[in-house]
Amino acid sequence: LSSTRPQVWFDGALHDIDSLQAGLTTHAMHYGSGVFEGIRSYATAGGAAVFRLPEHIERMRQGAALLGMAFDPAVATGAVLATLRANGHRDAYIRPLAWFGEGSFGLDVEGHAEHLMVATTATQVHLGGTRARLGISRWRRNSADSLPPLKLCGAYVNSILAKRESKSRGFDEALFTDADGFVVECTGANVFIVKDGSVTAVQHRDALPGVTRDTLIQLSGADSRAVTVEELYDADEVFACGTAAEVAPVHGVEDRSYGDNPVTRELAALYARVVRGEAEAARSWLTAV
Ligand code: PMP
Repeated sequence: LSSTRPQVWFDGALHDIDSLQAGLTTHAMHYGSGVFEGIRSYATAGGAAVFRLPEHIERMRQGAALLGMAFDPAVATGAVLATLRANGHRDAYIRPLAWFGEGSFGLDVEGHAEHLMVATTATQVHLGGTRARLGISRWRRNSADSLPPLKLCGAYVNSILAKRESKSRGFDEALFTDADGFVVECTGANVFIVKDGSVTAVQHRDALPGVTRDTLIQLSGADSRAVTVEELYDADEVFACGTAAEVAPVHGVEDRSYGDNPVTRELAALYARVVRGEAEAARSWLTAV
């Protein structure tokens, strides 16, 4: 029996997405005690394939371990593939989430049910992304000393505040910088700069170690190092990158505007070929659905 309703994988089986509910005492809803991933699958000549699935699942495992959650990478991997198949998705965004469910109102996670879900949504195929205008956030990024840069649910309140503040000032997205004048990252993407043709990946201990960032370093031979806000303003090009954003040219930061971003466009085109399995050497990054 196949259903035409969107299917979601929840605690071991596929269900109609609108048939599920979470209880009001859900620990993760009160305290952010969950961990998620953002993964993508692409249509390739050999069928749908997930880009760098083991790396995403491993990052999720690290977050789950920190929360003291039992998390089985093999189960999560199987759930991702099963959900894509059930929905017949090819170009899709994949959202696994593991969280602590119902129980008491205490902070201790013990005694709370653990859940795992995977939802997928079809994505538009796009190249190059939109040219974002970034506002420098008045909020600091969660410090790695307080909250490690993993995809913990609660950590994203920090991103929400920054995004709201930047949007209220007319920008599309926020850029986090630290108190010492270094660039950290965007609310859901890492940052690169291009100067005199050389590509530099912004490195910062408070930034999420992005899979896309790693991919682009490997593809371009980019240098990975700390970058000051001054260098960012002085760069020829700036771009943001992430699973959802892919390689997104930055139009400007505050009142500084960049040009046409030719190197960024070249990298975006290369990335698009790699994720779609058109680059022979990068096929090992794809998991067939
Ligand atoms: N930084 C943050 C805060 C993010 O949420 C994301 C998206 N996961 C990224 C960077 C980019 O990471 P990735 O390339 O692994 O998607």
